[in-house]
Amino acid sequence: MNRRIIGYDEDEQGDWRAKLECGHYQHVRHRPPLVSREWVLTEAGRKSRLGFELNCKRCDEEAAQPTTDCE
Ligand SMILES: [Zn+2]
Repeated sequence: MNRRIIGYDEDEQGDWRAKLECGHYQHVRHRPPLVSREWVLTEAGRKSRLGFELNCKRCDEEAAQPTTDCE
């Protein structure tokens, strides 16, 4: 499910995570040559990605789970 980036923070290892509008976080690591996200290394780069959409896997997982509502 595509969710917009509304902010960022760093985890314990210093890896950047994007905060998505749904409240979930998703890592946006820069790990060349496998993953190239140089934009995440600078504040200007991160700001330039605000509002971009990432595919939130957690939202997909939650949507795929059967509802647990009582009948
Ligand atoms: Zn989500």
